[in-house]
Amino acid sequence: MTNQATMSGLRSREPHFVLVPLTAQGHMIPMVDLARLLAERGARVSLITTPVNAARIKAIINRVKESDLPIQFAELEFPCAEVGLPDGCENVDLVPSAGYYKAFFEATHHLREPVARYLRAQRPRPTCMITDMCNPWTADVARELRMPRLVFHGPSCFFILCSHLMQQHGIYARITDDFEPVLIPELPQPVEVNKAQAPGFFGALGWEKFRSEVLEAESTADGVVMNTFDDLEHSYIELYRKVIGKEVWTIGPLCLYNKDLDNKAARGNKPAIDHHRVLSWLDSRKPKSVLYVSFGSLVRTRPSQLIEIGCGLEASNQPFIWVIKDVERTSEVDKWLSEGFEERVSTKGLVIKGWAPQVVILSHPAIGGFMTHCGWNSMLEAVSAGVPMITWPNFADQFLNEKLVVDELGIGVAIGVKVPYYYLTEDSPPAAKRDDIAKAVSRLMDKGEEGQERRKRAKELAEKAMSTMEGGGSSMENMARLIQYALMHGNNDSDQEEEHDA
Ligand code: UDP
Repeated sequence: MTNQATMSGLRSREPHFVLVPLTAQGHMIPMVDLARLLAERGARVSLITTPVNAARIKAIINRVKESDLPIQFAELEFPCAEVGLPDGCENVDLVPSAGYYKAFFEATHHLREPVARYLRAQRPRPTCMITDMCNPWTADVARELRMPRLVFHGPSCFFILCSHLMQQHGIYARITDDFEPVLIPELPQPVEVNKAQAPGFFGALGWEKFRSEVLEAESTADGVVMNTFDDLEHSYIELYRKVIGKEVWTIGPLCLYNKDLDNKAARGNKPAIDHHRVLSWLDSRKPKSVLYVSFGSLVRTRPSQLIEIGCGLEASNQPFIWVIKDVERTSEVDKWLSEGFEERVSTKGLVIKGWAPQVVILSHPAIGGFMTHCGWNSMLEAVSAGVPMITWPNFADQFLNEKLVVDELGIGVAIGVKVPYYYLTEDSPPAAKRDDIAKAVSRLMDKGEEGQERRKRAKELAEKAMSTMEGGGSSMENMARLIQYALMHGNNDSDQEEEHDA
């Protein structure tokens, strides 16, 4: 067969992507959206998951089956017992306490052989791997199966870029005081941070080996896929491309894949409340009058802080939906909720205990603001819905995400928290008091000029977010280029096998 004939044979084939998410909500949810987007564009997809995680998204898996999308959800056993994790602890949000994080990441390393075994058995052979940056062990698997490996970055490009610049300029090595202010070098405008707020990739003490594995796996990857879009952080994306010297595909906001209500409601986990009930509650409110309050899947707010938040919301006199995670419901919190609070706010507030259908809520016209922990998915979901934010970062990428949204995009009001939550102890006073909270709420929901300007900017960004995910938009074009890349550069062993068979 001539080279040309081989190439045209390759071009006519559908690529087979293998997606390997980190099993954490903020990492899995966008990967599941990505799987469906790729499959709808003609690619085949195998998504690696585990029994507990698959059970959480059973509604999505069933919808995929019904619609005949070519996605396989590969449920591999998560080796909890081998590393001393409690049974069923298959997602970062199920890790009982900080002392178990190392064991969790060790367990993910143990998935290497089961993943390789699963992929070796696939026909057609997988052509291209997209793997979370937190899964550096996948580099060996991709090498063995001779397929290109693209790293998927869940956080903002701004955070990834700043972390690289700080690493490359030796800031992490040189500065010993976590709270010493530093200017991040090379950025188009001055951005001041400290190591506590900008810890980079796995910056905590004791994680040095894992950090270097993650950086190494990124530097040897064939490219990077990011859940962001060009109009949101254009200059940072350009600079990041230069800094890492490889192809970067920006393909977000992935949450906008979910157009219909049932898809939106099924993301991540089974909601603790029927989404139709939330919708009818919201339908009875005025446009842009309700504040949505949620701190993502991982932040565990202490009881004293939770009570302070509740009192601040009550004092703000603004309608609200407030999400309290199951893991945060200590007897103290439950007692406080049931002994007066819920009754006092019953005409104004809806408290969701457990998993909330976040994208359903954010995209309702009654929502006028979002108090968020600044997880990147939550921020993209707010941007996509045109909702301005009160920013309350806790750790990891969240302080840098706050800077982007408040200082640069101008669609956020900072609550004013400066210290990451692992520097606090059980008896530290609340990081934000009820008065700070009530003030931030009235500033965000304000009908005056400042509030109107912020809402206008949020609306403009939402329009850009939507158009980037439509035909001809930059993220959709990048998605098409990504599929083309897999066709041209993907492992073509399957061609050889099939030619041989013929
Ligand atoms: N989420 C949700 N319901 C909840 C809590 C979180 O749907 O009750 C979703 C949220 O929409 C987002 C993801 O979980 O897609 C959380 O990711 P993010 O990056 O915002 O924060 P993390 O949980 O990783 O800190």
